[in-house]
Amino acid sequence: MKYRDLQIQTQREAPNNARTEGFSFLVRAGYLTRENVPTQLGEIALNYLRYLSNAVDFVSYLSLPTISNSNEIYFPIASGSIEVAHCPACKYTERLELARFTKTTLPQEEQLPLEKVLTLDCNTIESLANFLGIPKEQTAKALMYTRISDGKFIFVVVRGDMQASEAKLKAQVSEVRAATAEEILSVGAAAGYASAIGLKEALIVVDDLIPASNNLVAGANESGWHLKNTNYGRDYSAEIVADLIQAKAGDACVECGNPLSVLSVIVLANNPEYNFENILLALAETHHDDKGLTLPHPAAPFDVYLMQVPGKELDTRTKAEELYSELQHAGISVLFDDRDERAGVKFNDADLIGCPVRVTVGEKALKEGMVELKLRKVKENQLVAIENIVEKTKSILN
Ligand SMILES: [Zn+2]
Repeated sequence: MKYRDLQIQTQREAPNNARTEGFSFLVRAGYLTRENVPTQLGEIALNYLRYLSNAVDFVSYLSLPTISNSNEIYFPIASGSIEVAHCPACKYTERLELARFTKTTLPQEEQLPLEKVLTLDCNTIESLANFLGIPKEQTAKALMYTRISDGKFIFVVVRGDMQASEAKLKAQVSEVRAATAEEILSVGAAAGYASAIGLKEALIVVDDLIPASNNLVAGANESGWHLKNTNYGRDYSAEIVADLIQAKAGDACVECGNPLSVLSVIVLANNPEYNFENILLALAETHHDDKGLTLPHPAAPFDVYLMQVPGKELDTRTKAEELYSELQHAGISVLFDDRDERAGVKFNDADLIGCPVRVTVGEKALKEGMVELKLRKVKENQLVAIENIVEKTKSILN
């Protein structure tokens, strides 16, 4: 392809809306508009990735620091809108809301009798634990929903120090919405002071840690009152006992016990679909230096950036055109900078666009039958005899 045909627009300055360096260089190199829309060059890069994706496991050829599970491939990036739990030790990786972890049970206590206590203005776990002078682990947190499909009231109990995962709950009971004040009253619960004890017509779902936690403080279903020493099995039971808790950083990995990290990511593949825009961003994020993109050979849409520097005595343009056909005939993809720009402008653009190899036809070298070859990631140029340039390029790319 020729530079002018692609109407490539490079930019000297980073766009002021750039959240990451990779996005900034994709805009500056003319792959994307500032509004994150692929340009003609961007479409070529994306189509090339689509073509590459016919190969099995192609993301692994792109030299990206990905993490994955059997369903999805992720790229960690601070601006990512999705969070995953990841174990650096055994590589266990799962979307945070579905990630499993090993819970720590409290030491088993003997079950004590229920005791009703006045707890005015204690309608949060925080205020309740403070008021009673107990750790949050000694409380039961209630969450109340209504199932969308049949209007069933869903009463959820998790330990007070833990965060419930709505995704894990939905996996058990299907889609739910928050219960209304009216619905809460109708099952006999009291908002802020609710427990599963004595409810009418509610589907009770408890986290699997609840049956192993004795003597929890829970609501008395009466405003201003709580019950001490509630015990699952003795005071109430549930239709469903399952893992309902959202993992957090530092929780123990379910596979190996090491602490989990929480990472922001973008999704590169959701089996069997690829997200090529995200893969292009991941490439730019991973492969750049302070001058521009440094795309590796299998990922770059063009292997060679070919340019000529106008000469005073020799016709470098015609020679460059010849090389352009020769390289292409050899199966090498070439971006030919066919503009009448100064060498410096072209060098800068070559660095921004990031093809693995740059070939320059200049008068001085051409007089000796040579052209200049430079690898994007190497500082020095080398002179190569024109008749060897195709072979030389091929050997570099292999
Ligand atoms: Zn692990």
